[in-house]
Amino acid sequence: MNVLIVGSVALDYLETPFGVMERALGGSATFCSIAASYLTNSVRMVGIVGDDFPEEHVRFLSSRNIDVLGLERVAEGKTFSWGGKYHDDMNTRDTLYTELGVFEHFHPRIPDEWKQSEYVLLGNIHPSLQMEVLEQIEQPKLVLCDTMNLWIDIGLKELKHVLKRVDVLILNDEEARMLSKKRNLVAAAHALLRFGPKVVVIKKGEHGASMVTRDTYFTAPAFPLMQLKDPTGAGDSFAGGFIGWLARTNDVSTANMRKAVVYGSVLASFCVEEFSIDGIRSLSDEDVAERFITFRAITAF
Ligand code: AMP
Repeated sequence: MNVLIVGSVALDYLETPFGVMERALGGSATFCSIAASYLTNSVRMVGIVGDDFPEEHVRFLSSRNIDVLGLERVAEGKTFSWGGKYHDDMNTRDTLYTELGVFEHFHPRIPDEWKQSEYVLLGNIHPSLQMEVLEQIEQPKLVLCDTMNLWIDIGLKELKHVLKRVDVLILNDEEARMLSKKRNLVAAAHALLRFGPKVVVIKKGEHGASMVTRDTYFTAPAFPLMQLKDPTGAGDSFAGGFIGWLARTNDVSTANMRKAVVYGSVLASFCVEEFSIDGIRSLSDEDVAERFITFRAITAF
């Protein structure tokens, strides 16, 4: 089954205790698409870049079987750029800058032949743009939505509108508390379900991820890594791995979504091991399968 992914495509500035990287390939659509491409070979990417976006990045995305027909390339203008600096604990980060560039006037255009996409991942972008995507898609089988604190702050009304049409909401613990106005995460998840989604997945960084429906609860730990170098894109890789598995199996049952949570965690764990997309640049199917099996082992008792 195919997955349509919309989000940002970026050239990031990254600073972590392990070093600095400039003009690093990033963006929510980028991480989501690369992660999903390890599970399904029908990934459709929608985003926008400027004239400074290196052609080698487009070639790389295509080499992963990611269809870039929906990647708009503006003849004059700069690619979206985000600068982030991580604290020593690697859990918290400061945004150093956000330069919208060509993103400022972006309106996602879904190619006609993609309007019947089955699985849709609304990556982290302004909720009004996420809504524009939904309005162009005919009867998707599953819609997954990611968001961030910025949109809860400045786009809450639009976000609540989008959530009415979403099947799965993925967000981190801080965002879940902010959006639900509840401190307890189980209570927060149930409050979020009342906004519309049937499933809420809360990512908790090194403490794993929990999936909550009205009457089920599932939790998976994070993969036990000795060292991580750059957490950028972990959340997006999780979302890409999650939806990639659902599309591959074409099964949206809660039981199968438990496996999707684990595939999300597997891809996120590879992502954080290196800077930018390097951790998920060239994995083998065996790498992914092995880590999935290890998850089974570390959670069995
Ligand atoms: P994550 O670490 O999963 O939150 O995702 C990091 C990616 O999100 C980076 O590569 C950024 O380019 C991108 N990003 C940061 N801020 C925004 C924003 N306001 N809108 C869209 N993408 C963003």
